[in-house]
Amino acid sequence: MPAREHTLAAVDVGGTKIAAALVAAALPAAGDERPAPPRLLRHAVTPTVVDSPEACLETIVDALAGVLEGGDAEAIGLGMPSRVDFAGGRVVESVHLPLADIPLRDLLQKRFGLPCVLDNDATAACIGEHVFGAGRGARDLLMLTLGTGIGGGIIAGGRVYRGHSGAAGELGHVVIDEEGPPCPGRCPNRGCLEVYASGRAMDAAALEAARARPDGAFGRALAAGKPVDGPLLTRLALEGDAEAGAALARIGAHLGVGLTSLVNIFNPELVVIGGAGAAGGELLLGPARAVLAARGLRPQRDEVRVVPARFGTDAGVVGAAALALTELLAG
Ligand SMILES: [Zn+2]
Repeated sequence: MPAREHTLAAVDVGGTKIAAALVAAALPAAGDERPAPPRLLRHAVTPTVVDSPEACLETIVDALAGVLEGGDAEAIGLGMPSRVDFAGGRVVESVHLPLADIPLRDLLQKRFGLPCVLDNDATAACIGEHVFGAGRGARDLLMLTLGTGIGGGIIAGGRVYRGHSGAAGELGHVVIDEEGPPCPGRCPNRGCLEVYASGRAMDAAALEAARARPDGAFGRALAAGKPVDGPLLTRLALEGDAEAGAALARIGAHLGVGLTSLVNIFNPELVVIGGAGAAGGELLLGPARAVLAARGLRPQRDEVRVVPARFGTDAGVVGAAALALTELLAG
């Protein structure tokens, strides 16, 4: 018998926008391999305000208040683009938001009178795929989210692995070239996977192609004043442009080098690849699998499956809803 359906408020806080949704979702029954996804009853996107901690907090409160008008929610889940103290319910460090050390969970619980949970956004997306999506049924899985950077999530033995202080899961910072370019953001390392296979890396590859060959598809787009970026790279590759396909395959091969280390270490059953940067699908995942098959240790490389995420643009709110459902309402 399927579990009771719950109503949840789910918020995906991004560096530039906040997506909030009122969501109806039920914990899938054991053995249900393709459960009904959460239903978005009400959905709103607003710009993130980062001028001050107070203003940032106010936009999150306003976004929540807006969706909560749509029905009686039982709990609130939030995905944050930050390092999160999961037990303490606060953001520890964030390059995107001025919310460090604010007791966000407790403030929201008090403001709305509802139980609230927050976690890193990539971890929340991983929970969303594990409960409702491509990771359903797997006890050991990794998820990589290819966004501006690369986020990661780990499920080990059926449970989220957060590490000693909640900072685990930075799968984008596995090094694939110790002499490589500096890693952007707060990472002091060089040559991390994030440098080679993130959305930012795809933007750079598109621009490089445009400058190298002004008469190619990228060069013509640049001359016409159109955006020359990762989405263009993916679109041209999917349309069959050879230059774009080759660039995406190179990025996929870099992804495969990173996956090789991760699969060797974690021996997962499944690796789920999501985020806007994964829109090239098999054009990206095919070359990644080929590198993993050639370079990975046995038996890990033979046992793992590398699959695309089920959820696309809704992955953030689905993850936040799955987080609230599993942490606050399960059982
Ligand atoms: Zn790094």
